Formats: sequence, structure tokens, C-alpha cells
Amino acid sequence: MRVPTRRGFVRNLFGGLWTGAALLQQSIFRADVARAQAQSTQGLPELFQIEKVAPGVYAAIAKPLPLLNCNAAIFEQERDLLIFDAHSRPSAVVSLVSQIRRSVSQKPVKYIVNSHFHWDHSQGNPGYRGIAPQASVISSVATRDLLSSRANKLARESVENARKQLDAHRARLDSAKTPAAKAYWKLMVDDTAAYVKEMGSYEVSLPDITFESDLLLHDKAHDIHLAWRGRGHTAGDIVIHCPQKKVVATGDLMHGFAPYIGDGYPSSWPATLRELQKFEFDHLIGGHGAVQNGKQRVIQKAAYIEELTGLVRAGKSKGQGIPDLQKSISPAELKSLKGSYGEFLMSSLGKYLLQVPGTSGESLLDGAVRGNIPEVFNRLDA
Ligand SMILES: [Zn+2]
Repeated sequence: MRVPTRRGFVRNLFGGLWTGAALLQQSIFRADVARAQAQSTQGLPELFQIEKVAPGVYAAIAKPLPLLNCNAAIFEQERDLLIFDAHSRPSAVVSLVSQIRRSVSQKPVKYIVNSHFHWDHSQGNPGYRGIAPQASVISSVATRDLLSSRANKLARESVENARKQLDAHRARLDSAKTPAAKAYWKLMVDDTAAYVKEMGSYEVSLPDITFESDLLLHDKAHDIHLAWRGRGHTAGDIVIHCPQKKVVATGDLMHGFAPYIGDGYPSSWPATLRELQKFEFDHLIGGHGAVQNGKQRVIQKAAYIEELTGLVRAGKSKGQGIPDLQKSISPAELKSLKGSYGEFLMSSLGKYLLQVPGTSGESLLDGAVRGNIPEVFNRLDA
């Protein structure tokens, strides 16, 4: 993901949870992370649902929030932990590590991996620097370059945008009529205010280990293969493969939402997904949404990006602009969305991305395709 969503659906459990999260973020912002960590064994908000995927491999599935977190994949090694992906803010990292200590393992974190440079996968890095100063952060060369050149500016813009949205959110909260709408807008106000407060002084923390295409880590528990297989969601997306456990984690190269292509390479992405299919795996932990079993969704996602890119390219070459294409291309027209992939996206967007109460699955899918058309249009030759 790149742009925080402002549409969403509040689930009841978030009421109490969120108060805790806001307090946590404030306390971390004021105090040092180490002190927060020492206090963190109880009472922290559970921002993730942790599930066992294979022996020693866990998925931390992010619960929906206005300023969303990515999922993490946790690999328990003989003496330490490797955590794939680093969320949208340092406090989310403190919360996750606290959950891991309670329910998975007390072993120290040794490696953190940034799948790509986007804010919701990398802005937690400073949290790990506080909790696990000895740990190394790993990324592709391209991702480190993008973080170095763009992350501070993007973070400052995101704080500025969040600040601007606060008054509008407060007005919506004041005029909300139903309990669901009130809960939704309260969460929007609280999360946005907490983000502004915590991230006001954010400075990027860059990876210390980088690689071009492959990096192997050998541990007594299992082997870890980090791989860059081509451009896709960004220039630098990497995946992690554990051959013994038959698991991959993929960041946003592959996840449960419609793709975000604004920094992407629509003409190369399907081929990169075909490279991903070559890894031997039974379970896929994507950057967002539920754990996927098998390779079916990878094939379907490649088909969707390919079909949409073909239609946009054909229309553009005939002189059609974005509004024309948005009129002529709808989910109903796309073969790749017929059947199970369209159904899957609707359900996943409704469940794992915060949505305005009452939003239908059809309108989510329609919005996703409408959003993808200009992204592909502008990135056809990237
Ligand atoms: Zn992303």
C-alpha cells in the first residue's frame, strides 16, 4: 500500500483496543523505546492476529486501522528471530514484539527485513533500533536507495496530510448518527491524531545489509532464502522463502487486496509473479490480508494486472484518456475478476482494510479498478 485509506469499517473490538494504542504511541513518543518495552509485557494493544503457519513460522496478520500496518512473517530460529516487514510506525513494532514475547517466543530479534520502501512496511524500523539494537535490517539495494532518497519526505507529507484531515474527521464524528458511524469516525480521529503525534519527529532508519538478487541465511532451524525476482509493486520488492517449511512471505508483491500500482511496473509485474510461482511453497504470507494456501491467487493476480494493462495500453494508443478508460473498463468487463478472484478481493478488502460502515463489496471492487486505471496509465512504460 502507499496511500492510507480513509474508508473503513469498525469492528467492535477496536473501541477499547484503540485507546490503548493511542496511549502507547504517546508514551513511546515521549519516552524512550527501551523503557516502553520494559513496561510492555502486559496491557499493550494487540494490533496483530498471530497464527502458526508451519513449525517455527508464524504470520502476524494486521488488524484493520485507518493508518494501516502491514503483516509480518516471523521465523523462529535456533537462538533468535527473523521478522519480515516493519509496519507503519515504531509503536506498532513494540506492540508486535510484545505479542510475540507473550505468545510465540522470548528469543531476541536478530534480523528484520523490509520487503519494499513503502511507509507501512518500513516506518517501524526505528522501533527495532530501540528494542533490538544488535539486530540487522535487510533489504534489496533498490529498496535502500528508495528509502534513502524518498522516505523522510514521504513521511513528512503523510504527517502533514494526516494533520489536514483531522478537522474533517472531527466534523464527521460530530455529525455521525449511528453507533457504527460514531465508532468509525472516533477511530479515524484517534488514530490520525496518534499518528501525527508519534511520527512528527520520524527519521528514516536505513537497512544495514543489502543484496541484488539472492541472500541465503543458514540456521539450524531452517534455511532462509531472500530473493529479488524483478520489478513489480516497486523496483525493489523482495520475498522470503523457507524451503523446509514450504512458506513464502511476499510484502505487497502479492497480497489479499487489489494491487497498488502507483510506484509499480505493470508491464513487468506479471512476469515477476511467475518467478514467484517457481518457489516451492504451500503457504503464502502476503503484505496484507489473510494467509493464502497454494498458488492460485498468484496466478489470478498476474492475470488481472496483465488484462488491465493490455486494455489500458490499447485504449491509450487509440488516444483514450483516463476518464474514457474508467467508463469503458469495469469489474464486470474483466475476465480475470470473474469467479473466485473478484469474490476473494471483495471479501478481503471488507475484512482486512478499514471501511466506512455499510460499504458494499461491489463498490470496493469497482473503486479498486477505477483506482488502478490511472496508476497503470501513468506507469505503462515504467
Ligand atoms: Zn506497498
